[in-house]
Amino acid sequence: MKILVTGGAGFIGSAVCRLLIETGDQVVNVDKLTYAGTLTSVADVSGSPNYAFVRADVADRAAIQAIFDTHRPDAVLHLAAESHVDRSIAGAGPFVETNIVGTYVMLDVALDYWRGLEGAAKDAFRFVHVSTDEVYGSLGAEGLFQETTAYAPTSPYSASKASADHLALAWFHTYGLPVVVSNCSNNYGPYHFPEKLIPLMILNGLDRRALPVYGDGANIRDWLFVDDHARALRTILQAGRPGEKYNVGGRNERTNLQVVQTICDLLDELAPSAQGSHHDLITYVADRPGHDRRYAIDAEKLETELGWRAQETFETGIRKTVEWYLARPDWWRPLREAYDGARLGLLTAKAG
Ligand code: NAD
Repeated sequence: MKILVTGGAGFIGSAVCRLLIETGDQVVNVDKLTYAGTLTSVADVSGSPNYAFVRADVADRAAIQAIFDTHRPDAVLHLAAESHVDRSIAGAGPFVETNIVGTYVMLDVALDYWRGLEGAAKDAFRFVHVSTDEVYGSLGAEGLFQETTAYAPTSPYSASKASADHLALAWFHTYGLPVVVSNCSNNYGPYHFPEKLIPLMILNGLDRRALPVYGDGANIRDWLFVDDHARALRTILQAGRPGEKYNVGGRNERTNLQVVQTICDLLDELAPSAQGSHHDLITYVADRPGHDRRYAIDAEKLETELGWRAQETFETGIRKTVEWYLARPDWWRPLREAYDGARLGLLTAKAG
């Protein structure tokens, strides 16, 4: 299949591009290359004859139209987004532009294109809209997010993703575009931008800098190894039913403090420091405004209907991740130098 992947220079998108090239598909990677996108993340596959890259903004209708006309994809995996909650608190504008307007443009151009297809190509076409479990809001101590859980987003990021999910399903119900929506829990793994929790802790730990834990560290996230998410998206693309939503998660609930402590254990083992245990670097800082307490995903529909299973546990995945960061300073150092690890998203820092 020829698959148009948006956001393929980002964390999850690059894992998707690597997987699709490995499985013999053709990839057209469309990415604006914002601060979060780097072509070094797809260096392993960019020499493949099955891979093409186009730098474009998903909110630029003329550019997206031209890409559909030129490349004539069999399917779309739409991942391009502004993705960092802290940045959305500091300034929501790019989140509205990319996540809402950009998704609208992608859907609308895809609809025109799909209407022009015929026969088997039209039947097989899919638009997979990649979203997050954060659209469901916060859970109490019990329960899991189901596909039927009502939306209750709390941050500018999750509100923009929720808007995009509603648009995507509206393009199915109203116009018949074969859209499938996926809602995934927190991802981690190689090529994760250095300002996100897990890589930030690994790299600060290596630099012997403070490991800032928000609030009391008891917020719970359900962690999924990025390659498991990439496999889930390929499964959903191939077998997901149009108009349906699929939750993606690996039953790996951990408090933020447990995550940081696990990273400290691994750094103590794999990169011991004469200056003492990495645990000594943990510091508690002001909580994120509106910080959702707990996310946890029920992925049973994806598992029973489509046969997907996460292959990594948190223990196996986090070890692979720490080992990867230890081995790949060539990837993260330039990004780390551009971003100094400063705190983002405190209300005092809100820009407009
Ligand atoms: P990321 O920030 O690492 O990558 C986003 C990519 O999109 C970057 O390459 C960036 O350059 C590109 N991009 C941004 N704005 C663009 C625009 N206007 N036009 C074209 N390209 C643009 O994000 P990620 O963590 O890889 O997330 C990918 C998708 O998966 C997002 O839609 C996100 O909401 C969703 N998601 C992420 C997680 C997670 O834990 N990271 C979990 C569930 C769902």
